[in-house]
Formats: sequence, C-alpha cells, structure tokens
Amino acid sequence: MNQTQPRPAPNTLDTRFAGASASITAHADIAATHAAALRSIDRVVAETAHPTDPQVAADGVRQLLRDGQVLALTGAGISTGSGIPDYRGPAGSLRNHRPMTYQEFRFDEVARQRYWARSFVGWRQMNRARPNTAHYLLADLEAQGRLAGLITQNVDGLHAAAGSRNVLPLHGDLSRIECLDCGADEGRISLDARIEAANPGYLERLASTTLQVNPDGDADIDAGFIQDFQMVGCLACGSTKLKPAVVYFGEPVPPARKQAVKELGDRARSLLVLGSSLAVMSSYKIALDFARAGKPIAVINQGPGRADARATYLWRADVTDALFVLTR
Ligand SMILES: [Zn+2]
Repeated sequence: MNQTQPRPAPNTLDTRFAGASASITAHADIAATHAAALRSIDRVVAETAHPTDPQVAADGVRQLLRDGQVLALTGAGISTGSGIPDYRGPAGSLRNHRPMTYQEFRFDEVARQRYWARSFVGWRQMNRARPNTAHYLLADLEAQGRLAGLITQNVDGLHAAAGSRNVLPLHGDLSRIECLDCGADEGRISLDARIEAANPGYLERLASTTLQVNPDGDADIDAGFIQDFQMVGCLACGSTKLKPAVVYFGEPVPPARKQAVKELGDRARSLLVLGSSLAVMSSYKIALDFARAGKPIAVINQGPGRADARATYLWRADVTDALFVLTR
C-alpha cells in the first residue's frame, strides 16, 4: 500500500498548536496521499496475457515445487475463503470504502477517532476468522520442504495460524499497535481490552445494526457511534496517535522488511503468486525482480494481474482448487 513516499514531517506538525502554514502542509500531504490511494484503488488491471492451458500450468508448477526453493507470494484471494473480503474483487470494499492513510493517523484527529471507533467493532469480526484450506495446503507445502518462504500481502495473520512458519507479512499485521509519538508497541488484544473497559455497553448498543467489515478491520458504523466512542491512550506516553502495525497508503514498507524480502528472493529459485493481482507496487516489485533475474514466475489467480505478461505459467483457477491439484 506504499504508493507514495511520505515526506518526513517536522515534529512541529504533531502539535495541536501548529501554525497555519504547518497545518496547510499537513492537509496538502493528506490530500496528495488520498489522491494517490484513489488512483491505486481505481487501477484496473487489464488482461495482458493468454492464460496457460490448465494442465500445462499444473505440470509446470508441480515441477517448480519439485525443484524446491519456491517463494510463495499471497494476496487477498487466499483469505476470501475465510470470510475476509477482497478490496479489489468484484464486490470489493474499495468501491465504497477508502482505507486510512498514514498521514491521517498522524495529523487528522477526526479521522483517527472514526478509524478507532469503526476498528474496535470491525477487528472483533476479523479476529474470529480462521484459516481455510488454501492456508493449510500452503503450510503443507512448506512442511514438505518445497518453499523458500512465504510472503503475504494480507494483514490477517491466517498463514501463521495455519502453521506456516517462515511467513513474511509484507504489509505488517493487525495483531500489534504502534504509538506514532513514542514508538511504544502493544498487542491488539491488550488494546482491545482497554478500549472495551473505556466504552461500557458500546458493543451491545451496536449489536442491533448491520455492519460491513473491511479487510483492514474497519467497519462502517453511524456517525453517532463514532462521536460516542472513547479512545484510550498509549500505555507509555498517553498519546492517542495509535496505529495498527500495518503499512497504510502513504507509508513505506520498513527498510528491514524490504531487506528480508530481497534476501528471500535471492535465495528462491522461482516465484509462485497466489490470489493476488499485485496491484500494489511493493508486491509487484518482487515479481519484477524475479523477471529481471531470469527466474520462473507462476501466477495462480482468477482475475488478471500486473505480472501476467511476465509469468512462465499463468493459471486462471481458484487458488484452493489449484493447490489441491498441486498437493495430491
Ligand atoms: Zn506513546
């Protein structure tokens, strides 16, 4: 989700006493990131390549797995079977929901209040999601020694829950919270318990309403509920500038994680993309690096994706069905 590189913001922008010009700069940053986020969301990935014959694709990917050291790269298509909606799918929530930007978490108190109220509700539903067959079959492939590792764009933690050991969550995961003022970090379960204690009866009052929950754990709730919501502060410094440890629009992938991705890529013999159109640059770049190195790329996805034209095997299939074929 790192479509733009954020400009390092001077600390003065953090205070509510910031001068008018500083706040205009912050608003310009927010507006620019919004524009970039919307461009990314609107990006239609067109069909650029002819899919491989399914039998040829299955044989080809099976051979890549036999050769070993396959780097698996997964996206939202892996988790839809666990009830987690796909932002970009046909009924994708990005059609009517734009996720928070990093700049909003930093500078926009109103947006942050809205996010945490909605997320308090949405995260409980995300937290109930369980791994599906695709997650378990990928864990099996790792246990059989076929994989160099697994990189996921998903922030739901379901690969680890299914037993995959070497998982690199490219965009972080929702299980940790970070303080944007002091850097302290807290588990989501602990934060959730504190929020619940600060908002007695809140969830019961909401229970009668219908909710749409989005992949970043955000839910659509009424303005009144957002106003009533009481956010809690950082355990270390009291700041309410808290953000899930997830890479949001306008935020780069942390350098150490980029390095880990590069090392995994260097070690791997081939790339297997599952359930992703690679619409986001940080994941598309992984495929570009494999193409540049002359290593085979296989794509298993139901819709078109950005790496299709570079794929050795382009397999149009349901990810779970394909994994069954590959592992039987
Ligand atoms: Zn703090």
